[in-house]
Amino acid sequence: MQDPVADLLAFIDRSPTPHHAVATVAALLEEAGFARLKEAEVWSVAPGDRRYVVRGGSIAAFEIGSAPPAEAGFRIVGAHTDSPNLRVKPNPDVRAHGYAQLAVEPYGGVLLHTWLDRDLSLAGRVVVRDGTGLRSELVDLERPVLRVPSLAIHLNRELNQEGLKLNAQQHMVPVVGLSEKISLARLIGDAIGGKRGRKSAKPTEVLAYDLMTYDTQPAARAGAEGELVLAPRLDNLASCHAALRALIAGRRGSAAHRAASTRAIVFYDHEEVGSRSQAGAAGSFLADVLTRVSAGFAAPGAKGRTAEQAFERAASRSWLVSADMAHAVHPNYADRHEPGHRPVLGRGPVIKRNVNQSYATDAESAGLFTSLCEEVGVTPQHFVARSDLGCGSTIGPISAARGGIRTVDVGNPMLSMHSCREMAAAADVAPMIEVLRAFFASDVRPPA
Ligand code: ZN
Repeated sequence: MQDPVADLLAFIDRSPTPHHAVATVAALLEEAGFARLKEAEVWSVAPGDRRYVVRGGSIAAFEIGSAPPAEAGFRIVGAHTDSPNLRVKPNPDVRAHGYAQLAVEPYGGVLLHTWLDRDLSLAGRVVVRDGTGLRSELVDLERPVLRVPSLAIHLNRELNQEGLKLNAQQHMVPVVGLSEKISLARLIGDAIGGKRGRKSAKPTEVLAYDLMTYDTQPAARAGAEGELVLAPRLDNLASCHAALRALIAGRRGSAAHRAASTRAIVFYDHEEVGSRSQAGAAGSFLADVLTRVSAGFAAPGAKGRTAEQAFERAASRSWLVSADMAHAVHPNYADRHEPGHRPVLGRGPVIKRNVNQSYATDAESAGLFTSLCEEVGVTPQHFVARSDLGCGSTIGPISAARGGIRTVDVGNPMLSMHSCREMAAAADVAPMIEVLRAFFASDVRPPA
């Protein structure tokens, strides 16, 4: 990887949906020598093995350390693959006043106004019949086919004084064209057919879909000196990118490879809607993977107690870094921040604290992350919400509760979180990768 910022922009552009993000991550893992494991198979692993597992819009990958996880624990970085957007309803085709429109609903905490007047496309997965079974297929229309038009100021004179009020049902219905013949089935049929080298798929082939909108404007480096990154889905593909690059960078034979602990990444779907799903952080995905890796490491013939308690022993020796973006101070709304805790764009990773456990960080995990930052010459910033304002959350507390693993919540600072197009700093991209690399290479044990 030459330029980490250009690499991040390409990573985001390749990943318009959680399912595409998983495919992007899987392809980069394969290039780096990670082999796919199936959940339906029995796993056995040996030191140095690089493997990954997919569950829906979530993916986990790991590199086995030189010692069993039960002896040396895991070093895990967690992030999420999903971002707020507009998702297509099951009966999608709407006709009104000469327009063909698409029925959509908001996914997660969408900043609705940011989706107005943008050149939107549609991507996701479709489920098709495959012999006697079902198959999921990725689909991406790639070109701008949708637009949610704003209302002209002449028809809404009070707008700038009273603020924009958007009703998700009424005002966010995208226009998809003017022809009577337009239908979603036809659009995705053509897209799938095109992929398979024929004109279109049979309408009966597609049984169901998870389809969502995305902005076709490519991610960009901007600002007077190229110091800004403007892109969709920085929350949280930027953290997925940093964790993936850090894991891949620990090559065989390097110091990281000789580390005793097993290094892992887990990127979850459904964080933006609370994580309660089959593939989400509140589900069994990470615990299943770690349990099977811990047990699968047992020396041949080793049965009984050692294997049975492998995961619990490993968990007590493990650390999890929950990487998700942090709120940088906004120059026009600085009062929304706690005066003594105002992270700034371009000044490095942020450690997030919340005494009420909206973030999982505690003194032990904050101590670990601070020492890793010191190791690579970075000074961490600190975030707490104002005492009179609510606090966001992450997969950190959920994963910590599910797996019993000490966790720190961190992330790079950004503005416009949950906008259709967000903003971060180019200077923050490389340091986060470096700190996570140091984390993967570290055998620092949790305090006894
Ligand atoms: Zn997030």
